[in-house]
Amino acid sequence: MKSWPEMKLSEGARDFIDDAALTALIENARPDPVRVREILAKSLSKQALTVAETAVLLAADSPDLVEEIFSTARELKQTVYGNRIVLFAPLYIGSMCVNDCTYCAFRRSNDGAVRRTLSLEDVREQTLALERVGHKRLILVYGEHAEYDADFIAATVRKVYETKEDHGEIRRVNINAAPLDAEGYRKVKDAGIGTYQIFQETYHHETYRRVHPGKTRKGNYLYRQDGLSRAFEAGCDDVGIGALFGLYDWRFEVLGLVSHALYLQQRYGVGPHTISFPRLQPAHGAVTKTEHLVSDEEFKRVIAILRLAVPYTGLILTARERAELRREVMSFGVSQIDAGSRIELGGYTEVGDAQVMEKEQFSLGDIRSLDEVMRELIQDGYVPSFCTACYRLGRTGEHFMEFAIPGFIKRYCTPNALSTLKEYLVDYASSETKAAGEALIRDELARFEEGEMKNKLVGRLLAIEAEGKRDLYF
Ligand code: SAM
Ligand code: SF4
Repeated sequence: MKSWPEMKLSEGARDFIDDAALTALIENARPDPVRVREILAKSLSKQALTVAETAVLLAADSPDLVEEIFSTARELKQTVYGNRIVLFAPLYIGSMCVNDCTYCAFRRSNDGAVRRTLSLEDVREQTLALERVGHKRLILVYGEHAEYDADFIAATVRKVYETKEDHGEIRRVNINAAPLDAEGYRKVKDAGIGTYQIFQETYHHETYRRVHPGKTRKGNYLYRQDGLSRAFEAGCDDVGIGALFGLYDWRFEVLGLVSHALYLQQRYGVGPHTISFPRLQPAHGAVTKTEHLVSDEEFKRVIAILRLAVPYTGLILTARERAELRREVMSFGVSQIDAGSRIELGGYTEVGDAQVMEKEQFSLGDIRSLDEVMRELIQDGYVPSFCTACYRLGRTGEHFMEFAIPGFIKRYCTPNALSTLKEYLVDYASSETKAAGEALIRDELARFEEGEMKNKLVGRLLAIEAEGKRDLYF
């Protein structure tokens, strides 16, 4: 049995969430249309908003102002990110857990949960199944357990990277797991991880205590809040924050996320790379109150306002949400989605065991295949991307911020998106998706500024098609 490392905080850690202050901002914010428009103009100039400015947007609930917020978010998303959507898949590694989060099927008091940990051979098989449909980016997900320590996480990450077959390979592995200590982050960074994600779940202290009952590791609010600061201190400058919407007032959680992003930015000169905003889903054995569940309309406001508040932070929408809603909110600023996802352990090769599926961590709203999602994205005018260039070229953290600002994303990301799309079309797509994708590439090329970059890109697309070249990026 492995032992736990001591729960040591980062140097100078402090709890940056003041519940009373955030609540007062929510209660006192006045959505005067002139003020709202000033704030929208600030967002459009690609400046991050303050927590107080975000609170004003959250208070704006008249249909006209809400529509202005949506259309400004659409415009901002288009100018910063263009029409790319990055695709990934989750891979659940282990469902053992020492915590008792009331909302999660993996909670330790759920006697009906299926407890399983993938062996390294299982990890290889699941990875092959994902590669065979065309995935290039994964997020590995772990319960919190002494067995899932940094050495174990690093070993599973290495296994994913070394699993290759024909043109199939995973080029970026992100992590969603319990917070580590500085040494742990160094180990997983050595294994080549991309983003390390930790969701605070709820920033509201009292709710946090209620949904994490008992004396558990996760029950320590500050240790979790400080988790990504320790990552920065250990040299992991690519981190993802998140909140589980539905546990407490959605406005409070948005302010919590923005406070967290600004805190990291001020302390380390770099904000989070991504923000996730899962909505609470029914889960086997979970006990959840329903008073704070977030409606579709409110959820759309969450996404649009986050887009406006943190213009350069990627926003991740997961398959917990239904396909139609995913389609609608994509235009507000979501930059990454998962597709073809299975969240039952071993689900990419052992599909169909109804009993196991019923006991999965929570229910998914979108279970379409990667090919179907790709086709729909293309038909809606998005460029699906499997690009992993920035992280592999060391463009993370501060360097990413330098590049991300003006026009970089359009200049480099669009060509990289098109070449990874081309690879997908040649290697994995159905004939219908291939035809739609080729037409999209032609349209995008027609719009691309003439010059050296375009010539290089056209050469690369040809090399992928005719010479079997792969993994070419700017
Ligand atoms: N055990 C790690 C932790 O708690 O951070 C990582 C894995 S946990 C399975 C990943 C995320 O799933 C949690 O952070 C939580 O936000 C989300 N989650 C848990 N139960 C959920 C539910 N019923 N509906 C939607 N998301 C849920
Ligand atoms: Fe364990 Fe994470 Fe689920 Fe909580 S959310 S019970 S820590 S797996």
